[in-house]
Amino acid sequence: MAAATSSSANSLLLHHPLHPSPKRISLFSPKLISLHPKRLASISCAAVTSHPPVSPSISSDRVFNFAAGPATLPESVLLKAQSELYNYRGSGMSIMEMSHRGKEFDGVIKKAESDLRTLLGISDDYAVLFLQGGATTQFAAVPLNLCKPEDAADYIVTGSWGDKAFKEGQKYCKANLIWSGKAEKYTKIPPFDSVEQNPDARFLHICGNETIHGVEFKDYPVPKNKDAILVADMSSNFCSKPVDVSKFGVIYAGAQKNVGPSGVTIVIVRKDLIGNAQPITPVMLDYKIHADSASLYNTPPCFAIYICALVFEDLLEQGGLAEIEKKNLKKAGILYDAIDGSGGFYVCPVERSVRSLMNVPFTLQKSELEKKFIEEAAKENMLQLKGHRSVGGVRASIYNAMPFAGVEKLVAFMKDFQARHP
Ligand code: PMP
Repeated sequence: MAAATSSSANSLLLHHPLHPSPKRISLFSPKLISLHPKRLASISCAAVTSHPPVSPSISSDRVFNFAAGPATLPESVLLKAQSELYNYRGSGMSIMEMSHRGKEFDGVIKKAESDLRTLLGISDDYAVLFLQGGATTQFAAVPLNLCKPEDAADYIVTGSWGDKAFKEGQKYCKANLIWSGKAEKYTKIPPFDSVEQNPDARFLHICGNETIHGVEFKDYPVPKNKDAILVADMSSNFCSKPVDVSKFGVIYAGAQKNVGPSGVTIVIVRKDLIGNAQPITPVMLDYKIHADSASLYNTPPCFAIYICALVFEDLLEQGGLAEIEKKNLKKAGILYDAIDGSGGFYVCPVERSVRSLMNVPFTLQKSELEKKFIEEAAKENMLQLKGHRSVGGVRASIYNAMPFAGVEKLVAFMKDFQARHP
């Protein structure tokens, strides 16, 4: 029978009676897939768990993935998930196969919630929901839950995602665009006292970090209407730094940048705001339905929530969000210094005080070299550096899970590329 004796990120060493010497077989290899199920069963959980080289260093067959999302995940999380995939903690099945109402998954979702509460210091005044539909669905869910159709809501738009939220909001309430950075190509955040808010607005919506334009709020505006709340889309900087949740009525984030795979959206909502959804609100968008059933009204994205739980655990093990922020400041600092120190060869258009720690967009002064830059970087195993199709240029997304080594390699490549193109 085959028995796994060792593994790397995507391969297993199999001992087989017909192959006395160990044979390395990719986990995605048809050879493994075609093994008889009984033989495959003997690739026991114990055998797989005991060997993955859970090392903080990047393994040689992994690339540096600078994608904006879905994005790179911590290597230790991937290896842990791999080791638990086939037989989750002795249950005899994988997380993907088990009931979302069983004790194992109950443990997973409860741990995910409690670790997230610890990470962000979320009080009992807030519900934490694990939902589907992406952050895009929240563009509608927010006004549907917080407003009547005739209520006003204010939007500060600092990039494309905030603009999408505003446009969707217009369908369900009287959404006002009170500031837009579009004319300046979304490179700024306004001084808050210069923006005139609607005194009757039910909420003020911001996008905490604009993934495409690389513009990030460093502090937060306060709604003028004392009964209004601040709502933030934090999809692309969620859990990248400490946040005072009590300043917000609603925070929402798609997981697939900093905390997990696509398929789950986390909503943190103050409990007193729940229960007033417009009558037309679909059940799947009603916060009360999900809060009352602890995110288990229907089948949740179990595997995605499980990966989030592993990521939250990893973030706590690293010392929590204050430590994570220090690392992110350092990583982003290295990259912005390289751009600013290039004598104009590389240019980041975003105003310095609001530059994102997560998404670093830049252009090359000689724009005709950008394609070559991206292609050569890819050959060096630095992938997904192309800027969003709407803006072009280069964008390096350096979320929590991007190792220092990735940023250092990119900076070394940038310097070398510049030297080769005087
Ligand atoms: N908001 C922001 C800031 C994003 O970056 C994205 C996705 N890139 C979205 C919303 C949309 O998220 P989803 O694809 O999960 O709907």
